[in-house]
Amino acid sequence: MVKKKSIARNGAISLSAKEMEVLRWVQEGKTNDEIAIIIGKSKWTAKYHLKNIMKKLDVTSRVQAVSQAIGRGLLPPSVIIPDKEDSRKLNVGIVGCGKGGVAILDLFKDNPLVNVIWAADKDIDAPALAYADKLDIPTAGDYGGFLKEKVDVVINLTGSTAVSEELRRVVPADTELMGGVSAKIMWQLFEERRRRVEEREQVLKEHETLYHLGLVIESIDSLKDAGYAIIDYATKLTKTPAGSLVLFDDKKEDMVLIASKGFSAGFKRHDRWDIRKGGLTSLILNQDGPLYIEDIRDSKNVNPVLLKEGVRTLLASPIMVEGRIVGIIYVNDFKVRKFRAEDISLFSLLTIYAGLTVDRVKSLEETRLLSITDGLTGLYNQRYLMEQLKGEVERARRHEHGAAVIMFDIDSFKSYNDAFGHLDGNKVLKIISRLLRKNTRGTDTVGRFGGEEFCVIMPHIDEEGARVFGERVVKEIREYAMLNRTVTISGGLAMYPKDGKSHLSLLKTADKRLYKAKKAGRDRLICD
Ligand code: GH3
Ligand code: MG
Ligand code: MG
Repeated sequence: MVKKKSIARNGAISLSAKEMEVLRWVQEGKTNDEIAIIIGKSKWTAKYHLKNIMKKLDVTSRVQAVSQAIGRGLLPPSVIIPDKEDSRKLNVGIVGCGKGGVAILDLFKDNPLVNVIWAADKDIDAPALAYADKLDIPTAGDYGGFLKEKVDVVINLTGSTAVSEELRRVVPADTELMGGVSAKIMWQLFEERRRRVEEREQVLKEHETLYHLGLVIESIDSLKDAGYAIIDYATKLTKTPAGSLVLFDDKKEDMVLIASKGFSAGFKRHDRWDIRKGGLTSLILNQDGPLYIEDIRDSKNVNPVLLKEGVRTLLASPIMVEGRIVGIIYVNDFKVRKFRAEDISLFSLLTIYAGLTVDRVKSLEETRLLSITDGLTGLYNQRYLMEQLKGEVERARRHEHGAAVIMFDIDSFKSYNDAFGHLDGNKVLKIISRLLRKNTRGTDTVGRFGGEEFCVIMPHIDEEGARVFGERVVKEIREYAMLNRTVTISGGLAMYPKDGKSHLSLLKTADKRLYKAKKAGRDRLICD
C-alpha cells in the first residue's frame, strides 16, 4: 500500500478550509491565542489545526509552514506592510535662511524621510528664502505664524543666542529644537558625504579618461600622433592649459619636441635642445618621479623659453622604458597653481602609458624606416623611390606644376674598387650620399637606386633650377677631397611633363641621358 504522506509530497497537498484560514492568520503574524479568538474556538483547537497543517506540509515550525505554503502556491507571497509610524515624514521648519539654509534645503530636498514645511528669515534677501520659494516651500519673515501648525523639528541656523532663547520659549515641548552646533555638525556630515560622492565621481571620470586614452593610443602608429594624444590627455587629467612631450634622441644626444599644446608658434620652432648640466631638463631627468614647480620664476633652473611663454607652474615627469629615460612629459599653467596629490599620481600613471606607447611606436617607425631605406647610405631605397616618383608625377599632373628627376652614376667606379678596395668604395658611396642630401631641399627625395647609382626627385622645380642643382652636385663632387682622390659623377635630367608623362617614361629618359653623359666623357650633366 502506498503511504498517504508520499502521495501528499509528490502531488498537491490539500488543506481544509479551516486549516487554510488558520494558516493565513499565521502568515499575518497572529499568535495561537489570537487565532483562537478570531476563529471562535479554543486555544487547543487552534493548536490542533496548526499541528495538522505542519504535518501535512512536513515541517516543524510555524515560519516553515508559511514559507512551505507560499512555495507550493497555497498562500500568496507575504507583502511587507511598512510600519506606519516609520514611514511618516519628519516635518521640519528652518529659521535663518543664509548660506547654511541653502545647504540644508539642498540636503533635504531629495530625502524621502524629511519634509521641510517652512523656512523663515527676517532678511527678505536671504538666499535660502529664494531657494525655498523655488522648491515651493512656504516662507515668511517671521516664524511665529508657522508654529500654529505641528512641526517635528525646528532647525535654528541663525547662530544667534537671542533667537535660540526665544525659540526655546515659544516652540511647543513636543517639537525638537535643533540649533547652533548640532545643526552645524549635521550640515558638515552631509557636506562630507556630498564631497565624498563628488570625489568618487571625479575618480571614476579620470579612470574613464585613462581607459579611453588606452584605447586611442593602441591604434596610433606615428610618434607625432601619439605625442598629441598623450599631451591632450595629460592636460585634460591635470586640468592645465598647456603641455608638451619631448623625447631623447639617442644619436644626437639631445631632446626633441614631439608635440605641444597651448604654446606660441615661437615655442614650437625651438624644437631641439641640448641637455645642459644644471638646466631644467637635467633636473627632471635626474628625478625619480614627477617634478612640481609651483612658480618657475622662483626656481634656480629658470627656463627662458617657458618664461617667455608666460608659464608659471610646471609639472614634469620623465618617461621611462625598461629603466631607460626616453623623454619627458610636461604640463604647464600660466598662473601659479597647486595640484591635488591625486592629479600628480594620475600624471605619473600617464607617463607609464606614454612610455609604453613611445616604445611601441618608435620601433614601428624604425621598422618602417628600415623597409624603405638603404642600410649603407641611409638614403631611400629603389622601391620607395619608385613609389615616391609615381606619387610626385600624379601630384604634378593634378596641380599642373613641373617636377624633375635626375639619375646619377659614379664614374668608373669599378676601377676605383679595383684600385682601392671595396671598403674605400663604400666610404665614397657614403660621402656622395651626404653631399646629395646636403644640396637638396626638404621636399626633394634622394635615394640610392642600386649599386653606385643615385636618383633625386625634385617636385615644384623648373628645368633651369634642376639643371643648376645637378651641375652644382657634379662640380662639388669633382672638387671634393674624396679620401684625397678625385671621384667624378655623371647625371641625366628629365623634366615632367616635357620629357615624359609617366614615372617610368621619365626614368627612361633620365637613364638615356645619363648614358649620353658617359659617352660624352663622364663628369657632366646632360639635360636633353
Ligand atoms: P661607368 O663610369 O660606366 O659607370 O663605370 P663603372 O665602373 O662605374 O660601371 P660598372 O657598372 O661597370 O660598375 C659599377 C661598379 O660599382 C661595380 C661595383 O664594384 C661597384 N659597386 C656597386 N655597388 C657597390 C657597393 O655597394 N660598394 C662598392 N664599394 N662598390 C659597389
Ligand atoms: Mg658607374
Ligand atoms: Mg652603374
